[in-house]
Amino acid sequence: MSTVLHNALLPTYPETRVTFVEGDGVWLTDNAGKKYLDFAAGIAVVGLGHRHPAPLAAAHAQLDKLWHASNLYGTEPGRVLAQVLSDRFGGAQAFFCNSGAEANEAALKYARKATGKTGVIALEQSFHGRTMGALSVTGQPAKRAAFEPLVAGARFAGPNDIPSLRAAASEDVGLVLLEPVLGEGGVIPLSPEFIAAATALAEELGALLAFDEVQTGMGRTGTFFAFEQLGVRPQLVTLAKALANGLPIGCLLVADDAAGAFVPGDHGSTFGANPVVCAAAIAVCDTIDEALLAQVRTNGERLRAGLAGLPGVVEVRGTGLLVGAELEGSAGEVVDAALDAGLVCLTSGANVLRLAPPLVASADDVDRALAILTEVTNR
Ligand SMILES: *Cc1c(COP(=O)(O)O)cnc(C)c1O
Repeated sequence: MSTVLHNALLPTYPETRVTFVEGDGVWLTDNAGKKYLDFAAGIAVVGLGHRHPAPLAAAHAQLDKLWHASNLYGTEPGRVLAQVLSDRFGGAQAFFCNSGAEANEAALKYARKATGKTGVIALEQSFHGRTMGALSVTGQPAKRAAFEPLVAGARFAGPNDIPSLRAAASEDVGLVLLEPVLGEGGVIPLSPEFIAAATALAEELGALLAFDEVQTGMGRTGTFFAFEQLGVRPQLVTLAKALANGLPIGCLLVADDAAGAFVPGDHGSTFGANPVVCAAAIAVCDTIDEALLAQVRTNGERLRAGLAGLPGVVEVRGTGLLVGAELEGSAGEVVDAALDAGLVCLTSGANVLRLAPPLVASADDVDRALAILTEVTNR
């Protein structure tokens, strides 16, 4: 290997001192051989844990058959994955792309085509991605400011603030876009009352209701889709992060009752529905069964109960294994100290510690993580 003389990566992420070289289940190993308990899962991506045998075998088998053929032709894994997701949803069609931002771009275009309207209601503190369209509906001014003017039409309401939602209403709104739990904006679960108000408003305005389940989908909250716990079935759902357990993929699901807006030529993606990635994703879907989802719910409770007892914790929030602990002080400092102590975790904004372990994490793993966090926060 050649010596790295300067960092040839554009500095879009802060400098890090840790380089991971191997993963196994809930464990990561760095280039010095040190082991870490992984309660970040690559930002809620490696849902089944590192090197899970099911997607690993499926991807290997497909690598040996066919890597790519283009969407000008059919391939089996893409068609099968679409059917598997349609069955889970209860009747939908899928468009596959390569990331969460791209999935949301597809949703923005779909809503425009379906409704003929350009307005979007999204939430303050939301996160929908870094591309120009997805960034336009991301409710974090600091991420948007340097890149304006963005796509016009975004209107922002406060999470769980029904009056501000109503105030954002306008005849030109064609899409209401929500994260069921705001994953990057502080781990804020939306209340069933707020979801009901947003659903009613979308219907009133003739707008489509979209759930960005890029982070909350694929069992993360203890059901396959988070919307299953909220008494609503949105017309559009976007997925990405955990869909292929770490291989790049994004997906827009369009419910059958909102079908028909896209025709050939309206949208596309060269790498979308890549056979290797789709084969892995089918195996991921097949592995997320009721037993695993029940374990996610139980261990989520266990994690939240443990966090509530730590010093400096103001509030514990979250659903399933998407958990946030709002701290009196800086979450970044706790994340850094935990990393030194062998636990990988995340922030969600300045003061919220975010934990998103692989869904396969055991009760013992949860206790081990809590022990490290106890040690770190008692210093
Ligand atoms: C991560 C994330 C995205 C963006 O996904 P990328 O794959 O990074 O483009 C969009 N929405 C939500 C809710 C996310 O958590």
